[in-house]
Amino acid sequence: MDLAFIIVFGLMVGSFLNVCIYRIPRGESIVFPRSHCPKCNYQLKAWENIPVLSFILLGGRCNSCKTRISYQYIIVEVLTALIFILMYDRFGLTGEFVVSVFLLSLLVIITFIDLDHQIIPNKLLLVCLIPTAYILILDSLKGPGIFSGILSHIWGALGLGLGFLFIGLFGEFIFKKESMGMGDVKYAALIGLILGWQKGLLASAIAFFSATILLIIFLLLGKVSLGQRVPFGPFLSLGVFVTILWGSNIIHWYLKFLY
Ligand SMILES: [Zn+2]
Repeated sequence: MDLAFIIVFGLMVGSFLNVCIYRIPRGESIVFPRSHCPKCNYQLKAWENIPVLSFILLGGRCNSCKTRISYQYIIVEVLTALIFILMYDRFGLTGEFVVSVFLLSLLVIITFIDLDHQIIPNKLLLVCLIPTAYILILDSLKGPGIFSGILSHIWGALGLGLGFLFIGLFGEFIFKKESMGMGDVKYAALIGLILGWQKGLLASAIAFFSATILLIIFLLLGKVSLGQRVPFGPFLSLGVFVTILWGSNIIHWYLKFLY
């Protein structure tokens, strides 16, 4: 029963994230007007606005002008529901669940705006500070320590921010053009602040690893050329997602492997 509710709630949140992904970069309000077809402006009726189901019922087309609706809508809805299921499985119905789905929902918006427009809006990074503040308050209650508690998060923000700035400048020097945007640098600093330096480092490692693999596959398929700007935000988001789910296990395993 709980799970069915989580899935439906996740799909509904995913549907709202689609609205944010489409409207925020265009400077439109995310509340008004009601959802409409981007092509013919046809306003969706309630039954045409049900996550996943409407897409299937309408055959993936606008009911008025029959323009194809992007698969991205259904992908975002299913992905969000999946995030909700996995976080529920990981944390149960706790404060940690609420914070992680709030944070990851924002990361879904950032990811798809970066994919569509190659930008990470500052506004969204600022909204991320709300769940981040909750995490920082919880962690600062755990008491002092050089790299644990609140200090770990500050080191994380500084380390990842400066690290990505350095990589960006280095890339610019090698390729003679911008390779890592300031959006990515700010996003990395935020992730360091959220996760602390150990888990922040793990999330960046996952991001670089997955980006490299995907880049090699795309180069082999001839889909991208060397030196072309590839949005890095989505890989950082993936890194955060994997780290929230399995970060502690991976770090324990890695330390045991070392010593
Ligand atoms: Zn239409």
